[in-house]
Amino acid sequence: MRVSLKSKLTASYILIIAMVVGLICFGVNITVKASFKNFVLERQEKQTHEIVEALIMNYGMDTGWDRNTLDIIGMNALQKGLVIEIKDPDGSLVWSAYEHNNGLCHAIISNMLSNMYTYSNRWEGEYKENKYSLQSDDKEIGTLITGYVGPYYFTDEELTFITSLNQTILIIGIASISIAILLGYFMSSRISKPLNIIANKAKLLSAGDYKKRLTLESNTKEILLLIDAINTLSQALENKESLQKQLTQDVAHELRTPLTSIQGNLEAMIDGIWEMDKARLLSCYDELERIKRMIASIETLSKVENDMVILKYEEFDLLALLKNITLNFYPTCKEKNIAIELEPCDEEVHMLGDKDRISQVFTNLISNGIMYSNSKQTILIKVFKNEKDIVIKVRDNGIGMREEELSYIFERFYRVDKSRSKHTGGMGIGLTITKSIVEAHNGSISVSSKEGAGTEFTLVFPRNVEDCIG
Ligand code: ADP
Repeated sequence: MRVSLKSKLTASYILIIAMVVGLICFGVNITVKASFKNFVLERQEKQTHEIVEALIMNYGMDTGWDRNTLDIIGMNALQKGLVIEIKDPDGSLVWSAYEHNNGLCHAIISNMLSNMYTYSNRWEGEYKENKYSLQSDDKEIGTLITGYVGPYYFTDEELTFITSLNQTILIIGIASISIAILLGYFMSSRISKPLNIIANKAKLLSAGDYKKRLTLESNTKEILLLIDAINTLSQALENKESLQKQLTQDVAHELRTPLTSIQGNLEAMIDGIWEMDKARLLSCYDELERIKRMIASIETLSKVENDMVILKYEEFDLLALLKNITLNFYPTCKEKNIAIELEPCDEEVHMLGDKDRISQVFTNLISNGIMYSNSKQTILIKVFKNEKDIVIKVRDNGIGMREEELSYIFERFYRVDKSRSKHTGGMGIGLTITKSIVEAHNGSISVSSKEGAGTEFTLVFPRNVEDCIG
């Protein structure tokens, strides 16, 4: 069963508040019951004590009991819920509340009983009697019998207090649950609203709409992270899409230019405008070679990207390989008046990998370095080992790149400056192939560059031979 976040949150708020209010009611009831019971029992004892004192004071050793005062004491006790009788030491009745006002006695007792049953229908009490000996100057002057509803009883005022306390707790409970419903609705709306907007944005992304960004405001950290992730994703998808469009345009453009040139040359020769000499045929041939190279690059890239290249692993001396590559570049460097240096390394560096592919990686990096450097500049290659990795740096102090270009240069067909690559003949594939080969060896490649100051590529391969096998 699917339950909305709103219903879940509201239900949890109600549950928590209902539990808290229930516990408070239960606690208050238990405490009030216990303290009230003690208070009432103490009050009863105090009242009895006061009656005993009053009776002893009232008794005259010579005159005996004063009837009028007994009426007052007796009626006073009755008002407080005590039905009293006074007997002489020989047991004869001196004064009885029943005799004085039988109707009032029964009314008061039944009122007490009904109060106690109103308070609790499980109340287990009954009408009780206690006897107290009355003594004056160490002489027994009689017996006091008190009748009451026991073990304890509540007066009308006390019952009203308890009832209104319970009502207040009930009102607080109802108010708290109403607040819980409102709060749950409000809080869940605050959370579910942005989530719904984000879900809709994700749907738009899957439908190919990458343009708009989420501009939601929220003070929930997780929601902000989600918004950020979705915006980064749409930016990445938008970039990918524009690169894809760029790719089709580039391939079409790159192929059209040499083909138009070949077509123009051939047409001119067919129409007899130009003579079919060796130089013109060679120019057509060069253009065809360029197209062939381009198609070969695209093929290599697609193979590398689709894991179709099977790496032939062997252990080889990396320094010796780099030395060889630099030697091969000497003639080109000499031609451009560029120096190429392989910094000496104290220890031997052996690596497990596909030697030809690794060689292709460094050839690409060094040829780029030479291509984007000017006369009298230097290409420096540095190799060292740390605890876990083999690190190789290829640095030049050539024309460099802008910071914002760096995240794209490993993308397929990305060229920093179209006119720059036209001049150099590059297609923007070299670094993509380089990265794929490095990653196939479980390595990583990163770049740092500053326009006008130069570029440094850093390659990291695992030292542990088993980790090299991707
Ligand atoms: P290309 O074949 O066009 O050189 P790459 O994939 O090798 O393609 O490089 C992508 C882009 O990165 C190039 O357009 C180039 O401008 C830039 N680039 C690569 N290496 C360097 C470098 N060492 N110095 C400056 N720019 C570089």
